[in-house]
Amino acid sequence: MRLDAAIAEATDRLRDVSESPRLDAEILLCRTINMPRAYLFAHPEDTLDDLTIDRLEDVLGRRASGVPMAYIIGIKEFWSHEFAVTPATLVPRPETEILVNLALCDIPREAEWRILDLGTGSGAIAIAIACERRLCDVAAVDISEGALTVARENARLLAPGNVSCVQGNWTEPVRDRQFDLVVSNPPYVRAGDPALAKLHYEPQSALIAGEDGLDAIRVLAADCVDILVEGGALMIEHGADQADDVAALLSRHGWTDIACHNDLAGLPRVTAARRSGK
Ligand code: GLN
Repeated sequence: MRLDAAIAEATDRLRDVSESPRLDAEILLCRTINMPRAYLFAHPEDTLDDLTIDRLEDVLGRRASGVPMAYIIGIKEFWSHEFAVTPATLVPRPETEILVNLALCDIPREAEWRILDLGTGSGAIAIAIACERRLCDVAAVDISEGALTVARENARLLAPGNVSCVQGNWTEPVRDRQFDLVVSNPPYVRAGDPALAKLHYEPQSALIAGEDGLDAIRVLAADCVDILVEGGALMIEHGADQADDVAALLSRHGWTDIACHNDLAGLPRVTAARRSGK
């Protein structure tokens, strides 16, 4: 089979499952033949041998059944870095970059802040911040050892020196510490949300947070007060329809300066609040 025919056929197979079937097909093909993408266009008449066709069939089959590209190729780009990801971690989403951006607006360039990322997963948020603020000390907490293994490796490669990964349940392993800033992309999808049908390859514990999707955010709103310095900020990603509920929750726990920020799609996505004096 020729390369151009293989791309066309693979694109057709991925049409139902992917928003970018041709791009996915090209990436899977060039990874299978171990060539850069430009090779596909320079040599459309090249032919694939049977062994290569079998290997392509394997990855295409996985993608066609809904496995995210990031799990098949093992990486996802976030904040211009390539993060290793596995099914133990959520695939970092582009909308989460707004949380990184917001955090960086708060952290002065030469600050030596102690920063905490709760529910770090692949470490994307913690590491993106640590790369931009090398003098800060970033703690990345997750309850999942599987996720932390991935986060540790990403930290070692991308931000050696200023990220430490800690296993535990939300603030529990850092209760005796104080931070200048806490960030989190916690699970916030409602149990039974139809959107979950497309997300079943990702760790459900990183996505679902009870009937109203707010279980994890309730914990953060209650517990982060005790580990932040006075005036320190808490920044939480949430669902586009949860901004009012999150603001109400934070307000009930005494947080001040509560403000919601939109993602690039114009959807309310991250709420920030400050710890006032006790
Ligand atoms: N934004 C993700 C989604 O809806 C959910 C991520 C999360 O729960 N933290 O696909």
